[in-house]
Amino acid sequence: MALTTEKKKNPMDEEKNIDTTENPEPMSLMTQRQATLIEQKMNNGNGHGHGCAAMNGSRTNNNSSGGGDDVIEWFEQVSKNGGSVQTEILSQILKQNHGAEYLKKWLGYHNIQEMDSSALESLFTSVVPISSHEDFEPFIQRIADGDTNPLLTQQPITTLSLSSGTTEGRQKLVPFTRHSAQTTLQIFTLAAAYRSRVYPIKEGGKILEFIYSSNKFKTKGDLTVGTATTHYYASEEFKIKQQQAKSFTCSPDEVIFGGDYKQSTYCHLLLGLFFSDQVEFITSAFVYGIIQAFRSFQELWCEICEDIRVGSLSSRIKSPKMRKAVLEIISPNPILASKLENICKELELVDWFGLIPKIWPNAKYVYSIMTGSMLPYVTKLRHYANGLPLVSADYGSTESWIGVNVDPSLPPEEVTFTVVPTFSYFEFIPLYRHMQGDYKSIVADDFIEDKPIPLSQVKAGQEYEIVLTTFTGLYRCRLGDVVEVVGFYNGTPKLSFVCRKKLILTVNIDKNTEKDLQLVVEKGSQLFLNGSKKAELVDFTSYADVSIEPGHYVIYWEIDGYAEDGLLEACCTEMDASFADHGYVVSRKTNSIGPLELCIVERGTFKKILDYFIANGAALSQFKTPRCTSSNHVMLNILSACTLKKFHSTAYNNSSTH
Ligand code: AMP
Repeated sequence: MALTTEKKKNPMDEEKNIDTTENPEPMSLMTQRQATLIEQKMNNGNGHGHGCAAMNGSRTNNNSSGGGDDVIEWFEQVSKNGGSVQTEILSQILKQNHGAEYLKKWLGYHNIQEMDSSALESLFTSVVPISSHEDFEPFIQRIADGDTNPLLTQQPITTLSLSSGTTEGRQKLVPFTRHSAQTTLQIFTLAAAYRSRVYPIKEGGKILEFIYSSNKFKTKGDLTVGTATTHYYASEEFKIKQQQAKSFTCSPDEVIFGGDYKQSTYCHLLLGLFFSDQVEFITSAFVYGIIQAFRSFQELWCEICEDIRVGSLSSRIKSPKMRKAVLEIISPNPILASKLENICKELELVDWFGLIPKIWPNAKYVYSIMTGSMLPYVTKLRHYANGLPLVSADYGSTESWIGVNVDPSLPPEEVTFTVVPTFSYFEFIPLYRHMQGDYKSIVADDFIEDKPIPLSQVKAGQEYEIVLTTFTGLYRCRLGDVVEVVGFYNGTPKLSFVCRKKLILTVNIDKNTEKDLQLVVEKGSQLFLNGSKKAELVDFTSYADVSIEPGHYVIYWEIDGYAEDGLLEACCTEMDASFADHGYVVSRKTNSIGPLELCIVERGTFKKILDYFIANGAALSQFKTPRCTSSNHVMLNILSACTLKKFHSTAYNNSSTH
């Protein structure tokens, strides 16, 4: 999408530019029967969103969960009536935005204001087509260019969010409204309430948050563009969250909005250490952010301790605003500096095992998104955490929040997300891996699809693609994520995240997703870790090389430590043999796909990739290492230039050619 990208010199000056004038209509989500109990909890009266008052900051609460039992009681009721709440939510979205150009095309002749919610749901799902982000791009482009007509929503859109683009290969623009910030506050409050039941934290404590805002841009039509997390950190709701929880992030705004992630990381670490006894938990949006910060810490700790000793700030920090803000907080503390230095010296000897509880003795848990493409970083996090609970954060996207983790004690491998039925209208496209039964299905990617169904009709054990209709003007828009319904919480589904739907590795008839690659790399790295005591796999990605015949898969590994060539070759063979996809196995046996290639890249290669994405507008808070490089030549060039060694699989060497 072509945008006018005037880079803001000083993001701090612009960060309060989000539209907060928009006032979503008061809404009634419940039927009369349910209303009495829930009405007090829902935010009907103040016209600020779609949920419990405690979640929207309209009342303060002494409970450190920031709404605590009220919020949970509200969610208990809402989740019991998932199906009917969804019908009401859809009706609200459509009635609010009736007449918007996109909807007019499909609903133009219907008098929907007078329609009963169930009839409206049937009408909507029968006349409005399933769409994808591309269908909304012409409208979003017009909005970006300054067209103020009601195109997607009745309320003017003044802010746009950039999706990370690291999973799809390109960044998407998505409308961001006050409602987006409110639902972020709501899900954080709700998740905090469930967390505090299992892991209570001390009121007045600090949170070490590795959070980063991206740079903002202005479009031709003067709309502010930034990542969704950037807009949220700049919103009133972020302040309300801190006040409700009575826990404040260690870093001031000037660090979060510093615009240079290396300088911000240094300051987050410095302040996290300065307040080390007060830190109640450690967090980042995606766990990659925590790993990245602690890897930096392993190199920077001497300098950080010195800053604590004398109350100074390293010359690495160039931003005057950041310098001023941090120097106003810290003061010389030689006792703390010596204590931390001794701990770090001991930690160095054990490869930083148990770093978190040693340095932050009062931390109760680590909280971050650890599922999906983040799962490979959990091994390293466990190393740093030495048994401290790892709490997996919630499920959402730039388009909409989706589900909350109501079982915080579950390990990341088992975590599920309970759909919050007030956030958007959710539909589910059943997906089948292979032809089963005689569905009237269309084939897309490697999945066979059935007709979309509403939330009330999903079944446990079935995989689905999520489709969203949002308050921000997306109607029946595919999200591209595959989830499995693993059960129900009251009357709303619990989802486990499976993978992005898009295939990442395919040469001919073979079909492998991000999840398939992840499983294969897990097997290879297990062999690697067993065979080389002190080495570790830092990160990985892949590429389907069809430039030579036969095409083959290339997997790139960055490793830390030494490993014998024989071991790496065995890992390569193990990974090749571990792809279970039938198309791949058959193709390998017949050599229509060549042997898998493992490329070992030099240390720091994935940091270069991160820097490349950040330089192109991604925010560290939302960064996810792309697991395939096919559409990104710059990334492929970095990987090629940094390749130190190549190995080829010997799996299938003895297969017959037929
Ligand atoms: P973005 O578009 O940059 O906001 O990224 C959103 C995408 O991140 C989602 O569509 C998912 O693919 C992924 N994601 C978000 N939350 C989770 C989660 N809890 N577990 C796994 N993947 C997630």
